[in-house]
Amino acid sequence: ESEATHPLRISNLTKTFGGILAVDGASFAVERGSITGLIGPNGAGKSTTFNLITGVHAPDSGHVYFEGEDITGLQPHQVAERGLVRTFQITRELGEMTVLENMLLAFKGQRGEALWRSVLPVARRRVVEEERDLLERVWETLELFEIDHLAHEEAGNLSGGQRKLLELSRALLTDPEMLLLDEPMAGVNPTLEGKLLERIHDLTDEGYTFLIVEHDMDVIMENCEHVIVMHQGSVLAEGTPADIQSNERVIEAYLGG
Ligand code: ADP
Ligand code: MG
Repeated sequence: ESEATHPLRISNLTKTFGGILAVDGASFAVERGSITGLIGPNGAGKSTTFNLITGVHAPDSGHVYFEGEDITGLQPHQVAERGLVRTFQITRELGEMTVLENMLLAFKGQRGEALWRSVLPVARRRVVEEERDLLERVWETLELFEIDHLAHEEAGNLSGGQRKLLELSRALLTDPEMLLLDEPMAGVNPTLEGKLLERIHDLTDEGYTFLIVEHDMDVIMENCEHVIVMHQGSVLAEGTPADIQSNERVIEAYLGG
């Protein structure tokens, strides 16, 4: 498991909240260009692991490596700048902005930041060109996800599924290498779910890497090449969907709650 084949590796991560051991020595690596599923019963530590990877929380001990670099304890924006991106929630506040405005926000704090500042007149022409390129990319992405007809709709008026498409579209504009999706299919109707999965498969063909937490076992088993099972804060098993579905310890962990 070298960094060439496995862009993300976590090693012995531990995190306690008060007396609760949320993540307890978790270690795994995610293969480049794969869709890897992270599953486990409620409270297994999946979301906390995502939070430790993306810098929302600092671990008590252990390490996170991305593209061979130790990124343990970096701030979320520093992790995102390195190309490891988690889907953004469309909060209520952002719900009052249009889909198009939400997409443009993806550039905030990045290359496009200049567009949001007032600029010196002499720089104006270059900025206009950059602006045109960025807008073109935004529209291409909206078309790809078939939400371009919703561009001027307030994000808060979208269905759950359309929001998921918007979240993924927006994440893609930040030029990620790897995406972490926490329950991307929750509240998504079957048609949109199919569309979202199709896009995720296309993106892995282009070299993107996905780590997905998802409760829907059919989605995990039908779409992931590799599945990692967490239980009580650590990795209980990993393997192909077939391996996992026939693993006695996994079955026991789910039945035991
Ligand atoms: P999962 O996503 O697998 O359901 P979580 O990572 O959300 O599991 O939670 C793992 C454990 O850590 C649970 O017991 C949960 O109550 C606890 N936990 C998670 N986040 C916090 C927090 N911010 N403060 C206190 N306890 C937390
Ligand atoms: Mg969770």
